[in-house]
Amino acid sequence: MNEKVRCLIIGSGPAGFTAAIYASRANLSPVLYEGMEPGGQLTTTTEVENFPGYPTGITGPELMEDLKKQAQRFGADIRFGAATSTDLSSSPYKVTIDGEKVIEAETIIISTGATAKYLGLPDEQKYAGSGVSACATCDGFFYRKMVVAVVGGGDTACEEASYLSGLASKVYLIVRKNALRASKIMQERVLKNPKIEVLFEHETLGLTGEGVVQGANLVKHKGQADEKQVHIDIDGFFLAIGHTPNSKIFKPWIETDEVGYIKTIPGKPLTNLPGIFASGDVADPHYRQAITAAGTGCQAAIEAERYLSEKGL
Ligand code: NDP
Repeated sequence: MNEKVRCLIIGSGPAGFTAAIYASRANLSPVLYEGMEPGGQLTTTTEVENFPGYPTGITGPELMEDLKKQAQRFGADIRFGAATSTDLSSSPYKVTIDGEKVIEAETIIISTGATAKYLGLPDEQKYAGSGVSACATCDGFFYRKMVVAVVGGGDTACEEASYLSGLASKVYLIVRKNALRASKIMQERVLKNPKIEVLFEHETLGLTGEGVVQGANLVKHKGQADEKQVHIDIDGFFLAIGHTPNSKIFKPWIETDEVGYIKTIPGKPLTNLPGIFASGDVADPHYRQAITAAGTGCQAAIEAERYLSEKGL
């Protein structure tokens, strides 16, 4: 028989756990499924220094463990397992966990996050946490006065390169085409910045270094007559080639933008379906910070509580 719950939270990043803290304190008896990557993206970073309340910083895994314990302290039922499919055609909504168990939920808080795209080079895994990062705001601070490279030509890459130029001594921007895709204003900012050197028509072949990243091997004009290999000395390698929001299982029920970010009413975590809320990176192409995710998780739980009490559920 299907299990019935009042509030189902899917995902265990800062958004999911914050939603669980608020929902359990509001007596919604939330059930949270942690998903494929318990703790979310922060478990792949080392030091987190910008989450308010930790004056000397905290590691990503520790922060997530603290949030989880805080949610459990108020009775949140936190479980292993990933939502694998949904039937949101009518309420109560049905969510299948691990392809087997079906949960019927009066409200759902979607906090499944987004996954940074990587180039797919074996070296990205080899140097994960040792010079390879997909978040300049999270990890840029560790590269003060060092040389870093950012891959990508979109707004994220330009924004991250600009941000890093305030910390690092030099920033290479590795762009595969002969032009940036970013908005004009971001392009100008990057092209005018004396600390940023844009390497147009370059692709990354691999990374080098003893234990930590010390360099990158690139190829210029790949496949053309004048193709040549280029080596740059760097201390950090930042991916900024886009994110994939983890919203696939909610389609076709939940509206997303063309990239897959769940559409919400500006300033609120409301989706197109009543009783279903979205919080954190799955609905946020702009900020993607732990603290903003936590904020929207709180909003989603408050909205879930209001929805249930209005319906008398
Ligand atoms: P985009 O999809 O806009 O850009 C991705 C960039 O990465 C492109 O330059 C693309 O190259 C490059 N790229 C993709 N795959 C590879 C690869 N395998 N190797 C090398 N380069 C690769 O993603 P963003 O994250 O930059 O932006 C996503 C959305 O968010 C956009 O709509 C953007 O405008 C928005 N945004 C807005 C911001 C703001 O307004 N402040 C800040 C950040 C994002 P190519 O051009 O060759 O395809």
